[in-house]
Amino acid sequence: DQLHEARRATDDPLFADLAGDAQISFEFFPPKNAKMETTLWDSVKTLEPLNPRFVSVTYGAGGSTRERTHATVRRIVEETPIQAAAHLTCVDASKAEIEEVIGDYWDAGVRHIVALRGDPPRKGDTFEPFRPHPEGYASAAELVAGIKAFKPFEVSVAAYPEVHPEADCPQADLDNLKRKLDAGATRAITQFFFSAENFFRFRDAVAAAGIDAEIVPGILPVSNVATTQRIAGMCGAAIPPWMNRLFEGLDELPAARQLIAATVAAEMCRKLYAGGVREFHFYTLNRAELSYAICHLLGMRPHGPDQTS
Ligand code: FAD
Repeated sequence: DQLHEARRATDDPLFADLAGDAQISFEFFPPKNAKMETTLWDSVKTLEPLNPRFVSVTYGAGGSTRERTHATVRRIVEETPIQAAAHLTCVDASKAEIEEVIGDYWDAGVRHIVALRGDPPRKGDTFEPFRPHPEGYASAAELVAGIKAFKPFEVSVAAYPEVHPEADCPQADLDNLKRKLDAGATRAITQFFFSAENFFRFRDAVAAAGIDAEIVPGILPVSNVATTQRIAGMCGAAIPPWMNRLFEGLDELPAARQLIAATVAAEMCRKLYAGGVREFHFYTLNRAELSYAICHLLGMRPHGPDQTS
């Protein structure tokens, strides 16, 4: 009987139910130099055959990457068949300046904006309080309304399964999410998280708040806990204690770290899939391998003119 039990457990097809019917998107940041640009484009080209619904490009704190974000988004539009989404924030910009930025995007053929309030420039690892530009937008909800009044862009917004650090309470954060969607956004992409249960709890709360837009989990494949810990501390995402234990003693073993990172993220995606999630957004950090491997485990395969599907 024990042997039978062991065999049954071993045969349990962990990934067998993943039908490859998920929709995926990938997030990149604008490169700072020629070497980073090469890495980014290698990654875009590697991920392109997985047929992402869109790829998005972040906007640096305080609009510091305005030109680089624009150049990267434009190159995606010109050189790939993938839909490009440009992140945009309210920080340090008047409404007129924002209209100029989105007007340029529209003229370049971009039709999707990820609208964010943004964070003020950092002091060490902490943010100053957000102060709206005197002639600008005070929140992402206002920005969404401004974009939609200007042109019929598709607009995505941010959501926080573990509550945004500045929110008075979880309900206030949900009310804010609803305002962003009521203003015309059609999708919310979440901050990264490491517990599928937390995501499901959030999804239930979102539904109970009368929100029916797609809530797309943001997946961060972690291969460096120390870096992730620093980012997570600033944006209110919790790193579970087991994760530290998992990467203990692997500082000098990057390949082992990558394998573990893929396993952990794929396992969480599998749980999300089993819970009905069919859209996934990957924070690639401009590297393709981990996101590619996780998508493969999710059943995704390349399809394109030169590929078998
Ligand atoms: P908002 O939705 O405006 O919310 C900000 C806070 O204010 C929340 O706590 C909200 O509950 C509260 N709030 C808003 N309006 C009200 C109100 N009327 N009354 C009471 N409370 C209110 N940052 C960048 O700089 N560049 C990027 O490219 C970028 N991309 C991101 C992508 C994703 C998917 C995510 C999840 C985050 C991203 N961020 C980015 C980070 C984001 O800018 C920060 O998390 C920022 O602090 C909040 O932005 P938001 O759009 O969620 O703001």
